[in-house]
Amino acid sequence: MTDKIDENCKLDANESPFSLPQKVQNKIEREIKDFEFNRYPDSNATELKKRLAKYTGLSSDKLLIGNGSDELLLMIMTAFLAPDKKAVISKPTFGMYEFYADLIGNGSYNLSLKSDFSPNWQEIKKYANKNDTSLIVFCSPNNPTGKDVDEEKLEEFIKNTDKYILLDEAYYEFSGKTLIELINKYDNLILTRTFSKAFAIASLRIGYLAANKKIIEKLEEVRSIYNSDSFSQKTASLILDDINLFEKQWKLIRKNRDELFGELKDIKGVTPYSSKANFILFNTGIEEKSVYKRLKKRGIKIRFLKNLRILGDSLRVTVGSKEENSKFLSNLKEILSPRKEVAK
Ligand code: PMP
Repeated sequence: MTDKIDENCKLDANESPFSLPQKVQNKIEREIKDFEFNRYPDSNATELKKRLAKYTGLSSDKLLIGNGSDELLLMIMTAFLAPDKKAVISKPTFGMYEFYADLIGNGSYNLSLKSDFSPNWQEIKKYANKNDTSLIVFCSPNNPTGKDVDEEKLEEFIKNTDKYILLDEAYYEFSGKTLIELINKYDNLILTRTFSKAFAIASLRIGYLAANKKIIEKLEEVRSIYNSDSFSQKTASLILDDINLFEKQWKLIRKNRDELFGELKDIKGVTPYSSKANFILFNTGIEEKSVYKRLKKRGIKIRFLKNLRILGDSLRVTVGSKEENSKFLSNLKEILSPRKEVAK
């Protein structure tokens, strides 16, 4: 059988399967007509922060806008790790924490998550106490495990350390659970989020960060003045004006995620891990690399994760549209089903 190629099944980067709702697209179109493309952006992103203040329940002076949350992670490492401090990271997790810690600071202490993907608090506390540790990183729900952090344990930890805590909530909207209120309570907490996943504008690069004013001031020292452009700021503002349209999308993504998980569980030899995000991590009975390659040949792109701590080689699939999910599933089933003996 020849493998069919369909380039549209892109399930490798945890993007939204939806485009912007038509209503928002119409508003953008109207904006473009009189847009002052010749002017520099508002460096303080005043309008966007005003709307984010409403969305997060925090005051504007506790928010900072970034060119995607990637840039915010870089800014955090620059402000708090450079040049001789380390971060504490629990792996497997999003690769950019380690990358930026190596690039900017003195690297990271790379701990392992426990076998149920929860943080190893005992180890974290031990490494947090080291003199050269400046920042402890948590990602909730975590990429790629999809597991969220126990809120009570995390708060207890934040309360009892004077080190900085980075909590990455890039996938918050798919779990519905957040610790953003703690920004008003603890002065060592820094929380990041993004418009790339739930708000479907990965192409435009908008992320935001919440922290107390002292941390914001420190981060402002390392921020490029025009780090976020006017068009992206405007689009993000229009998105927040029509938040109810996105809430419908999140509900559907969560439903599709849970269905996809159930279907994966039913495939012989497949072990999926339950997820609070818009992706699912899984293992297969046969070599994951070959499953990945065969899906790719059929035009279905998922993420191959080489030799993850705890799990070894693994696969991560983004929750796509209903059609994409069923295309992925039927191809995966074909690949994993034992070849039938051909009668000679
Ligand atoms: N944090 C996590 C956990 C992510 O998975 C990603 C993107 N994959 C990011 C941050 C970066 O997102 P962006 O720069 O698009 O905001």
